[in-house]
Amino acid sequence: MLEDFKPEIAFIMRSDEIIKDFKLKRVTINTSFGPVHRCYIGKIYNIPVLIIYGRFNSEKVPSNQINFEQTIEAVKNAGANKLVGTFVVGGINPDMPQGSVYVLDNLVGMGNYNIKWNQNYSFHNAEMYEPFCSSLTKQLCIASRKMPFEVKENATYVSFYGYPRIETKAELDFYNKMGWDVVGQTCDPEATCARLNQICYAGIAVQIDDPKGRKNYINTLKENKVGKAYVEDIKSCRKRTTQIILQFLKDYQEFNCDVCSKMARKNNNFREFPDDFYE
Ligand SMILES: [Zn+2]
Repeated sequence: MLEDFKPEIAFIMRSDEIIKDFKLKRVTINTSFGPVHRCYIGKIYNIPVLIIYGRFNSEKVPSNQINFEQTIEAVKNAGANKLVGTFVVGGINPDMPQGSVYVLDNLVGMGNYNIKWNQNYSFHNAEMYEPFCSSLTKQLCIASRKMPFEVKENATYVSFYGYPRIETKAELDFYNKMGWDVVGQTCDPEATCARLNQICYAGIAVQIDDPKGRKNYINTLKENKVGKAYVEDIKSCRKRTTQIILQFLKDYQEFNCDVCSKMARKNNNFREFPDDFYE
């Protein structure tokens, strides 16, 4: 399948333009969870890349049912050890309008996440003090500075995993007070799964709505007016993250990261209780 193709880097992104313009080829990557069909490979500016078309396996499901482990395993099985996630996110700061773009630097997990760990696999807690690979993030920042629009660096992503809904005003006020930038439902566990697999991971995000716009829209509904949609077209939002990725690939410098591959807190000596106690 991918025998003669080793991707230098993988992306999780839904960009029809990139797939068409660079004539990427669709391939199926097998994983222990079953095949992943939404994989595209090829060269972009001479860099061998793997693009995974979004996070949903055929059906759109609530975020807690997305199989993040499977996507990360597909990246790993393809032989890539670097991954950039692209996100469409919600706005928090009333001064940042929809369409704002961010390079992620840290994340906060809010709410509960339920997983059923497959006990055939060993378990360890991911070391997430610095959730994103600093070398990859640096290259994304360099690309971002060449954009014709502003990109906010050092952004904090709040991962909200609760019942599927958009945030309340009270939640946004709280996040804003904390100085967090954007909110979404997928960066964690994706970043965590990447770290558990020693994959260098970084993220960029584009904001599809903003608190003011959401408020104004509800007010127009209350006044019985025809409301103007408060979300920017998702495709035009994604164009901006795609532009950053293309610039990133144009300037891409290969590197070996000694940090992410070593950041594991594996305890191979785990015993349920001390061996002496068996007697
Ligand atoms: Zn790294």
